[in-house]
Amino acid sequence: MTVPPLKNNCFAMPAGVEWTPVDDALKQIKNGLHPVVGQESITLEIAAGRILAASVTAKRNNPPMANSAVDGYGFCYNDLPDKEIINLPLQAGVSAAGKPFAGQVNAGSALRILTGAIIPDGVDTVVLEEDVVIAGASIAFRSGLRKGANLRRAAEDVAVGQNIFEAGHVLRPQDLALLAATAVHKVTVYKRLKVAVISTGTELVKVGDAARDDQIFDANKPMLLNMIRAWGFDAVDGGHFMDDPDLIRDGFNKAAQNADAIFVSGGASAGDEDYVSKLLKEEGALHTWRVAVKPGRPIAMALWGGVPTFGFPGNPVAAFVCALIFGLPALKTLAGQAVLDVQSFQVPAVFQKSKKAGRREYLRARLDANGHAQVFKSEGSGRISGLTWSDGLVELPDAAAEIAVGDMVRYIPYAFFGI
Ligand code: AMP
Ligand code: MG
Repeated sequence: MTVPPLKNNCFAMPAGVEWTPVDDALKQIKNGLHPVVGQESITLEIAAGRILAASVTAKRNNPPMANSAVDGYGFCYNDLPDKEIINLPLQAGVSAAGKPFAGQVNAGSALRILTGAIIPDGVDTVVLEEDVVIAGASIAFRSGLRKGANLRRAAEDVAVGQNIFEAGHVLRPQDLALLAATAVHKVTVYKRLKVAVISTGTELVKVGDAARDDQIFDANKPMLLNMIRAWGFDAVDGGHFMDDPDLIRDGFNKAAQNADAIFVSGGASAGDEDYVSKLLKEEGALHTWRVAVKPGRPIAMALWGGVPTFGFPGNPVAAFVCALIFGLPALKTLAGQAVLDVQSFQVPAVFQKSKKAGRREYLRARLDANGHAQVFKSEGSGRISGLTWSDGLVELPDAAAEIAVGDMVRYIPYAFFGI
């Protein structure tokens, strides 16, 4: 009998097994998935957070006509006398927002004009009220204005027919202002993606229920449900199942009927009780398994009854990181949302770390008062308090790395993941 030497490293890669690099797994997600939801037309009032299903072009110029940027007096620049102090007779009337001046402003005269008012015929420049003194029926101001000062030209912001948004864009409140200004009152968006969340593990109990000492509360369910909602998708509780293939199969079947995608945590390794990976391999179409990432390791991407199913590790820390790195881009793709590169900062490290080659690593991190990255004191995957201590992740590249204090590292705030 040969007894193997102690590895004493639970993240050592098993020999002879193919490990998919993170970038390859992400490529597979991007290329292998496509939007699975329908479309609907909605009004702007309820459109924030929704994903455009088609590009949008402006239906009107913004602004539609030239108008004044200030309260002041309008005149024709070329009629100004060549003097240091300029006096202009004030013509009767006013141009106000929503109440344009109907007539023509006479050559060499000025007209009272208010912010947002249409620039009347005969005016191409506006002087600010504060720069003017009124003397009887005329105004006086110093020379030095530029021709066209203090007015907004028609279409200077956006021209009719201009493309303003691409399909896949998630509408933000400020986007709705531009749509309204350009006369787009309805948008075609994707229907909300619905994601079922399943927990597996005989040791799990729903928080709030009584637990024996040998049982643990299901921490992944509330976390994953709420991550999905924070990303703008609908989340449904797909239940909790013991490590029993018949129960988990039933759970998958039900979830596949109710949802557009499935998140399942636990049971994704190759252990005796790991029925998630077994079921997905034998009865679902398993695409990728074993991604070279820490924390993580067993991640399953499969189809169950045609429904994209993502199996995450049971460890809450690993489940969290894998949901951010793989689950989020996958759901975005299924929902019709553009998957943009994750934004990050390069910041100096205030920690040391020696990292082996062959897998990407994510450290729970936050910035200190100087904007430098600190990491949580333990990399243990069961340390849920490290998730709440941290505000983001430091991503270390696939290659080996020796990080010394002061070295620049890639820091991704959780906010950049939408949570
Ligand atoms: P597994 O991936 O099923 O091998 O689980 C790995 C570790 O995570 C074990 O210690 C489990 O007890 C724990 N675990 C699995 N699922 C959950 C969960 N939903 N909440 C908290 N811990 C879990
Ligand atoms: Mg388990």
